[in-house]
Parts: sequence; C-alpha cells; structure tokens
Amino acid sequence: MEIRKRLSYQFIAIFALILFISFLTIYLLFASIRKADFYDRLGSKATMVAQMLIEFDEIDAELLKRIESNNPLSLPNEKIVIYDNQDHILYSTDYILQLNISTALIKNVRLNGDIHLSQYPFEILGQFYTSNNARLVVFAAATDIFGLRKLKRLRLILLFVFILSLVIVFFAGRIFATRALQPISDIMTQAETIGVSNLDSRIDEGPGNDELTQLARTFNRMLDRLEIAFLTQKNFIANASHELRTPLTVITGQLEVILMKERSNDDYRNTILSLLDDIKNLNQISNRLLLLAQTSSEFPETGFEQIRIDDTIWQARNEILKRQNQYSIRVHFSEEIDNEDKLTVTGSELLLRTAMLNLIDNGCKYSDDHTVDVNLSNNDEELIIRFSDKGIGIPGEEMELIFQPFYRANNAKRIKGHGIGLSLVEKIIALHGGVIDVTSVIDKGTEISIRLSSSKNSMKPHR
Ligand code: ADP
Repeated sequence: MEIRKRLSYQFIAIFALILFISFLTIYLLFASIRKADFYDRLGSKATMVAQMLIEFDEIDAELLKRIESNNPLSLPNEKIVIYDNQDHILYSTDYILQLNISTALIKNVRLNGDIHLSQYPFEILGQFYTSNNARLVVFAAATDIFGLRKLKRLRLILLFVFILSLVIVFFAGRIFATRALQPISDIMTQAETIGVSNLDSRIDEGPGNDELTQLARTFNRMLDRLEIAFLTQKNFIANASHELRTPLTVITGQLEVILMKERSNDDYRNTILSLLDDIKNLNQISNRLLLLAQTSSEFPETGFEQIRIDDTIWQARNEILKRQNQYSIRVHFSEEIDNEDKLTVTGSELLLRTAMLNLIDNGCKYSDDHTVDVNLSNNDEELIIRFSDKGIGIPGEEMELIFQPFYRANNAKRIKGHGIGLSLVEKIIALHGGVIDVTSVIDKGTEISIRLSSSKNSMKPHR
C-alpha cells in the first residue's frame, strides 16, 4: 500500500477512536445526568404525595386522586402507589395495574431505602416514607418522554457529527499526506531522469534542512561518488589503451624499419634486444594493469596468510637489483623490533611485494644517486615501513594527484614511467587495512611511509 494511503488511513483510525471515545463519554454523562434528574423529580413527587396523604387529615385517597388527576405538573405517564406497613395499597393511581410491584420489592425498599428500577416504559422509584407513626412504601413511576427524546436527539447529532468529521478528516488527511510526501515524489521524478548521459545532474535539495532535504543530499553525494567512479573508469580505459598502444607502436615501428632492407646480423641482434626490452616493458604494464583491476574489485581476503615483511622487502630488493644493478637499496631495522612476530603481517605476499617493489623502484628512479633507504620500525599496534630518497621530490600541489591512475607529476616526465605504480600501492595498502603517507620537498627528497597492522592486530583495519 502507498505510504500516502497508509498515512491517511492511520490518521483516520486514530481520529475516529479519539472522537468515538469523546462522544461516548458525552453521551453516557448526559444519559446519567438525565436519569439522576428524573429520579430526583420522581422522589420529590413521591414525598409530596405521601406527605399530603399523611399530614393532612382532610385529604383522603379519593380526594388526592382527584387533585393529582388535575395537576398540570404531573409527570408524563405518572403512577403513584403507596403501601402501608401491612403491604396493603393505601393509595394508587395505577388503575390498570401497569406496574409490577411484588412483595419482595416492597420489603427491599423497607430494608434498603430508595431503589431505582425500570419497567418499560416506566422508570420507577421506590421510597420509604416515615412520619407520625406512618411507615409507608411509596412507588412513583413515570416515563421521561422529554429526557429520552433529548437523549435520542443527542445520539443522532453525535452520530452525524462523527460521520461528517470522518469524511472531512479522510479528505484533509489525504491532502495533508499528499503534500507531506510531495518532495519524495519530486525526488523520484528527478531521479528517474538521471542516467549515464547526464550523470552530472543533481536532485533539487530545497532550502530547508529536514529529513527529505537530507535524503536528497545523501542521494546527490551518492551521485557524486558514482560520477567520479564512472569518470575514473572511463579515464582508466582510455589511459590503459594509450599506455599499451605506445610500446606497441614503438615495436611496430622498429620491425617496419628493420624490414625495409637487408641488415647485418648485428643490426638484427640489436633490434631484437631492443624489441625484447619493449616487450618486457609491455608485459610489466599489462601485469600492473591486471593487478590494479584485481585490487580495485573485491580481492579475496580469504587468501591472506602470515607474511614476514622483512622477507618481502629483501625479495623486492633482489628483484630490482637484478634488473638495475646500479641502484642502492639500504634496509634498516629499528631496535624496537626485537622479535620476528613484530615483522609479521596478515596479507597477500604477491601484492605486498608488488607494493614494496614499486616504492623502492620509485625512490631509486627519481633520485640522482639512485639510492633508497628502507626503514622498518614499529609501535604497539603497527609496523611502519619508510622509503626515503634524496631525489627530485613531488610538487606540493600534485601530492594528492600522484595516487590517481596514470598521473605523473610535471617534474617526473623526463624519467620513464607509466603512472600506475602508486595507485596500485595505495589500493594494495588499503586492501590490507593500512595507511600510506607522503612527505616530500622538491629537489630535496621524498619519504613515503606505510603503516600496517601487526599480525596480532590485523583484524582491526585502519579505515
Ligand atoms: P611512475 O613512477 O611510473 O610514473 P607511479 O604511480 O609510481 O608512476 O608514480 C606516480 C608519480 O608520482 C610519478 O610519476 C612521480 O611524479 C611521483 N613520484 C612517485 N614516487 C616518487 C619519488 N620517490 N620521488 C619523486 N616523485 C615520485
């Protein structure tokens, strides 16, 4: 059921309940006031008739009947019956015996005083009257025609007002609910129109700060993230194709040139060696792209194992030195690392080695002395690995950008690279629940530090 309908039905139900209880209370109170009032009048009448019969010697039952029959103040359908202490009728205007008064009832009045009862169409009051040795039981009965008529009218009025109010509340509730939910409908209509072609469109947030504005804002923030992800994806594909195409063009060019005429064996050999270099480069790019794609999607953390980070660093160091023997990679351990547990982290050996490899490679690549210092230290919870070099540094305004895929700082363009390494490192470290920090001074050097949870704390990721 639509919220709009549900709201208006709930609203009506609550309103109807409150109105019903109020009207019922009014009706019952009115009914009880009418009854009390009528019995008061019956009581006065009973006392008055008994008094006249007992107190005035000159008035006997017959005279009293005549007086009463002409009394304009008599109640509608009025009947008075008086019994003496022998239960004999002393006086009665109930000529055709419409009242059913038993001896038990008379006794009841004698014992308990006033009683009220009703015998349709009469309401009867039984009263014990004592005076001058007389101990009488007086029954006064009548029909409260006016009171009951008023009560009936009140019932009809209340019923009419009740139904009318419900109808009004039903329509008012619908209008109210429609108005209250209009912003949601607006958000839905606007959201419907947003697609890939207009991902930069946003939902109108309105001026207020209520829940619906917050909903629109949350939605817009989600769209921001989606747009960035979408653009990144688009750029990534464009950049990746570009990175792959460049070495392929170079390879094609070299092959075309060598095939133009007959060459010496040395020429062929040199070209093949150069091609091999390019193909290795191509291979490295595609491997990194593959890893980047894998780490961007859900990398199975279930494949994580206990890794000695110092082993990983030594292996990365050896791999690089095999390729670039002019590089100098110095590894230092802080004194606090006094047992191997402190060097153990939970993670993927391949991914962490790739990260170390990239950071060491960058340190050497971007410094004239091709030297990087790798420092390992720890605190209670983390293992900290710092990669510092005395190289070209990173311009301050580009510090945030270097983690974007394919981004290369302006001062680094003359040195060979593809801009994939750091984004891969960032993804790998995030995947391991770690944090990466960069401090750099242009032409002085760069320090990139990684903080990873030691194995005993590895279930608590940093972000
Ligand atoms: P690549 O080194 O292949 O260009 P990376 O993703 O590893 O790609 O690095 C991105 C950019 O960050 C580099 O192009 C360079 O501008 C900058 N950078 C990374 N490490 C260093 C460093 N140690 N010193 C100076 N600049 C660096």
